Amino acid sequence: MENISVKHDLAGGYCNSLTTYSRFLTREVKIGDIALGGHNPIRIQSMTTTDTMDTIGTVEQTIRMVESGCEYVRITAPSIKEAENLANIKKELRFRGYDVPLIADIHFTPNAAEMAARIVEKVRVNPGNYADKKKFENLEYTQDAYTAELERINKKFIPLIKICKEYGTAMRIGTNHGSLSDRIMSHYGDTPRGMVESAMEFIRMCEAENYYNLVISMKASNTQVMVQAYRLLVETMVKEGMNYPLHLGVTEAGDGEDGRIKSAVGIGTLLEDGLGDTIRVSLTEDPEFEAPVAKALADRYVNRVESQKLKVESNTVVCHPELVEGQSPTYSPYQYSRRTTEPVQHIGGHHHPMVMIDVSTENLKDPYFLSSIGYNYSAGLDKYNLADQACDLAFLGDNLPSFSFPGNLKQVYNYKTWLGLKDKNNCHPLFSIDEFNEAAVKDEHLNFVEIDAAHFNHLSLHQLINVVFVLKTSANHGMAEQRAFFVALQEKNLQVPVIIKRTYQESDADHLQLYASTDFGALFTDGFGDGIWIDAQNPDLALLNSTSFGILQATRTRISKTEYISCPSCGRTLFDLQETTQLIRSRTDHLKGLKIGIMGCIVNGPGEMADADYGYVGTGPDKITLYRGQEVVKKNVNTAFALDELIDIIKGDGNWVEKV
Ligand code: SF4
Repeated sequence: MENISVKHDLAGGYCNSLTTYSRFLTREVKIGDIALGGHNPIRIQSMTTTDTMDTIGTVEQTIRMVESGCEYVRITAPSIKEAENLANIKKELRFRGYDVPLIADIHFTPNAAEMAARIVEKVRVNPGNYADKKKFENLEYTQDAYTAELERINKKFIPLIKICKEYGTAMRIGTNHGSLSDRIMSHYGDTPRGMVESAMEFIRMCEAENYYNLVISMKASNTQVMVQAYRLLVETMVKEGMNYPLHLGVTEAGDGEDGRIKSAVGIGTLLEDGLGDTIRVSLTEDPEFEAPVAKALADRYVNRVESQKLKVESNTVVCHPELVEGQSPTYSPYQYSRRTTEPVQHIGGHHHPMVMIDVSTENLKDPYFLSSIGYNYSAGLDKYNLADQACDLAFLGDNLPSFSFPGNLKQVYNYKTWLGLKDKNNCHPLFSIDEFNEAAVKDEHLNFVEIDAAHFNHLSLHQLINVVFVLKTSANHGMAEQRAFFVALQEKNLQVPVIIKRTYQESDADHLQLYASTDFGALFTDGFGDGIWIDAQNPDLALLNSTSFGILQATRTRISKTEYISCPSCGRTLFDLQETTQLIRSRTDHLKGLKIGIMGCIVNGPGEMADADYGYVGTGPDKITLYRGQEVVKKNVNTAFALDELIDIIKGDGNWVEKV
């Protein structure tokens, strides 16, 4: 296939549009019979966790994955023998009637890649380790040394390109934040730009051989780094006339709610801007649980495209605040910086984002329901104990409680109800914009003003004293409308803090969590928002509270718990990752703010857990190596003692507190 040089006009800088949903059109790449990119649907994929030498086990897991929604299945090929066994796996799958395209996952072993490329439909290579081991030794490269190393890699890489061309095999150039080569680190550091250059080097080598059957990924466990890297990649590709499809993923996202929220924040933020052709959600769970999450994320945009068309057909006028496409935005999409605001009490400024929960439909006769939002009432002491995830603002609407609220929890009432309160201590009004413009009496400390993002022009700009906006939207592409509102505020240099509010009709917890993580994640990732308010039909307070804190943690804007950077496991895994993760979690989940990496193998683990504070990495059967950051502290500890040893290291560093 010839290179199709593309001319994209990226009005959004890294995407087609910052205001309208518009998918970035990539070139179509054939992977077996299921094409990717172009106008094809966003494809779903995942990776097996079985030993690749276990043919039947791998076949059966692959079938479970296909039944759960996977359109491609990736299988690790750590050495040539596993690469060879892909032929048996493929044969058995075809025999059983499954023609799902297979992808070989390669690290460090060009010979395994060359073997696999003759068997399966696609190979994934990591440019950080395809031809080199990461040594952390040589971080001083002259330009000559840099060029010489690239030439050496080119020689090792060309045979694979030729095989792929001959066999019609596709290739993913999959950069990971944690496994950049020393060469890239020397020039660009451990940065999104370094990740992009790492892939671009390999893309250029492919193009020099007239090979274009490529898919690109930029994965990281840190969602900010991941989002910035993909955006930079698109911008860079377009400058060079390329439009390769994007494989989206957050690496080592963890398990359960944390893993889902983190994945949705990273992947969803990019999908909102029309980027992404295939998704792999990476959970420390059985792989058949990943596809439904990925599918839920992707399916939302099928409806969005249809809704956009409907809007155009019915001539609906959507009144966005002015955001002229092509103008450079007032913030950088490539570097995190929080929007500057003037704090009102503890909202905005340098204070972490607040969590607001609607409790107005609760029975307000006794305080026990507050435990689900982080306030545990002790009747004996007549006192509240605060959890690490205690929400900051409770919306009571027009309902008055018949008990004393916790002092740390601000109460927010509808304006007219607030006006009638005898004791207004710790109670604050929520105005509509009209009420606020007309009100004779306001709170002298803190006033919430609810405004639709489409109504920026309704603002009277001279009365905004002690005001915090509650920013809602009813637009189908609501994130973009809210983002445009923030940009309008910045253009007018209005430093009013903003609590972002989104309303969801979804009654099931999974979809609510994924959608909220996408919508809020996309804004917090760009530094917008001084608070979060998830308004849902499903009034499960504990769910709303944990999702709100989870989104802030995943965007790294408010840390309220331990973070686990655990790999999803694969055929290289040396222990039961799910069980071990639960065990480590059970003893360390009170260490708020610590990041603990739990990695299945020494080959990739240390690199992949790039910014963990401590690491627990499998090094052999029953052997664990313990890390402080990237430094090995104890090698080959017996599994039975490894967790105790890890805790001793944390204690020795003064980072341990006892569980209460
Ligand atoms: S870190 Fe985990 S998922 Fe990655 S290669 Fe090792 S065992 Fe497999």
